[in-house]
Amino acid sequence: MDVFTCEGCGAALTAPLSRVAFPLYAGFSYGNGHPMPVLMEAGTYAVDEDPAAWQAHSIVIAPGDAHGTALVQRREYGACCGIDGRNGPNVTCAGCGRKVATRVDDCSLWQATWLEPAAVRLVAVGPARPVADWAELAEDRCGTPLLDLTGAWDPRWESEVTVTLAHLVAAADGSPVTVDRLLADAFRQFLAALPQTRPAKRAVLAGPGLPLPEPLPDIAVVPRHPQTGEPWPVPPGVAAAPLDLGFWRQLAFHREHPARPAIGRLPPGVERDDPLPPHPWRPVMVCHSLFFHALSRIPGIRPAWQDHVRTNAAALLHP
Ligand SMILES: [Zn+2]
Repeated sequence: MDVFTCEGCGAALTAPLSRVAFPLYAGFSYGNGHPMPVLMEAGTYAVDEDPAAWQAHSIVIAPGDAHGTALVQRREYGACCGIDGRNGPNVTCAGCGRKVATRVDDCSLWQATWLEPAAVRLVAVGPARPVADWAELAEDRCGTPLLDLTGAWDPRWESEVTVTLAHLVAAADGSPVTVDRLLADAFRQFLAALPQTRPAKRAVLAGPGLPLPEPLPDIAVVPRHPQTGEPWPVPPGVAAAPLDLGFWRQLAFHREHPARPAIGRLPPGVERDDPLPPHPWRPVMVCHSLFFHALSRIPGIRPAWQDHVRTNAAALLHP
């Protein structure tokens, strides 16, 4: 467990936290005027270690995990429903007044507190949470629903689809990609815009409890380890396209009972007490800037293929 302390006075600025994988979509906006959830689970923090990461937006915690701090700007010029952090750090250390973080909670922005790397110090206060192995993670098959009860997509799901799509497109490398039944609803509409001249590559959903089929596919959409961020290991020759573990479980193990056509009416005395399962009211949409950010983090993509993807981004991302 770690605590972030103030570089100026040494006061603790956070609750004890465990490190988890950095969500690549952390700094990206979602939709227009959308009320957003808290990005980080309580008791966790994440660090974007990419050297290209924007320094002020590299260490993120849940706002509720900030302790001994004060918000100095309650409303900022230009923000809509909350604070967008455009004026830089807006959270101070209650002990010494040093600016230590930026709180963000405006609409369409993930609610988060971004610690100032130069103003805080990481202090270990206890043993780190052991890293779960895949066998442990395979025991839980409960998925994260993709939709809320109104039929609106979870913003995390659409963000995750965007990142996984970048991996699928990178692995396509100029070929068409076919997806198995479990991936079809999420990805087929986007992949239809890939060039169709070469033999197709085959992408399947695979991971703990859902082994790779024989013959091996070209691409596997696999779960991402929630603590380390590492994809579930695949054998050589198979490209891994990682997906959040909770959503991966939902695709892998959640079976919706097919709706049967109803004939007549319910018999007298029988009342329907289960609400119908939510149904999406629009197709999944991906975020253009997040897609290219994710693509830029994937090593080894041929420049010519990157150029093709950029030129054809409209058809690919907005089918
Ligand atoms: Zn201080």
